[in-house]
Amino acid sequence: MKFGTKVIHAGLHPDPETGAVMTPIYQTSTYAQEEPGKHKGYEYARTQNPTRTALENNLAALENGSKAICFASGMSAMDAVLRLLQPGDEIIASNDLYGGSYRLITQMFEPFGLKAHFVDMTRPETVKEKLSKKTRLLWVETPTNPMLNIVDIQAMAAFKTERPDLLLCVDNTFASPYLQNPLDLGADLVVHSATKYLGGHSDVVMGAVIVKDEKLAERLYFIQNAVGAVPGPNDCFLVLRGIKTLHLRVQRACKNARKIANFLSKHPQVKNVYYPGFKDHPNHRIAKKQMRHYGAMVSFDLMEDHFDQARKVLSNTRLFLLAESLGGVESLIGHPASMTHASIPRQERLRVGLTDSLIRLSVGVEDVKDLIADLERALA
Ligand SMILES: *Cc1c(COP(=O)(O)O)cnc(C)c1O
Repeated sequence: MKFGTKVIHAGLHPDPETGAVMTPIYQTSTYAQEEPGKHKGYEYARTQNPTRTALENNLAALENGSKAICFASGMSAMDAVLRLLQPGDEIIASNDLYGGSYRLITQMFEPFGLKAHFVDMTRPETVKEKLSKKTRLLWVETPTNPMLNIVDIQAMAAFKTERPDLLLCVDNTFASPYLQNPLDLGADLVVHSATKYLGGHSDVVMGAVIVKDEKLAERLYFIQNAVGAVPGPNDCFLVLRGIKTLHLRVQRACKNARKIANFLSKHPQVKNVYYPGFKDHPNHRIAKKQMRHYGAMVSFDLMEDHFDQARKVLSNTRLFLLAESLGGVESLIGHPASMTHASIPRQERLRVGLTDSLIRLSVGVEDVKDLIADLERALA
């Protein structure tokens, strides 16, 4: 099945009871048993819920995995992956990680005995330097936020040939399964914040982990049930509905993003435009190899590199709403230095190009002429 068919059909069946074409919302916490232990495969809704199962089956197909396990948020999906490790184990992760992911590792798991190294994963030799017998997990984010660097997933998977017990996990939130399928490139686990492109309408918070290996899936189902950070059936329904148009939304958003990146690169007020689709982007070749398109995120900074200059742009767009998050049908604009990356010391963020005036766009699916006019007005 091709991707555009999978989003609508994979793992989904009309309701056996009624023939309902769309997956019903099973709003129940428990299920009646005929006699003790004799039931229809559902006992209690933390453990199983049919709406959630439908979503998990669909997500597994989208990432070419065997199983998907859904969680109440992207962060709780990551939490489940980190719970696969033991005290004393080490993680190597990208140094420009999503802020919440950095916080989860350093403030929740390091106190329990995990140790993490944050390196520039666009240079695989920096991973090699930190690799030891204790390393159990490589945590990759690509494209990265907000600098839109691209990490070579196959180069990361190559570290597994000498170390078969090493797990490679890719946070695929920024790309979405339409653009990139890390399991096909050698990853063991894929994590999504379904809040973003999968949901696609900025109306739900959810996360998912997708794997190929059945043993890993069993362990993650155990964690899902034991910890209990499960999504409710309404939210599962919303993500299932969002996924049906994932390919259409992402296609249009990517097309819009390319036009906007081109517009920005010619604008006299704009200094740098960060967009992996540009031939002179330092990781363009890898993006071309491992992604279907270059994504719908674009970052740029201003000739006059001051927060006040950025503030003018951020406050003067009308269609681009000033908000955190990404991946919805509507376009959003954000200021990493004061919003998502405010906790990073200035000198440190300047070193990776995250300047005071850096602006991040999550390009939506509106008419691109209106979006460009909006930016033109705000930059004037
Ligand atoms: C939003 C996001 C997360 C966290 O997901 P939540 O659903 O907000 O918990 C993790 N990784 C990336 C790359 C994100 O953008």
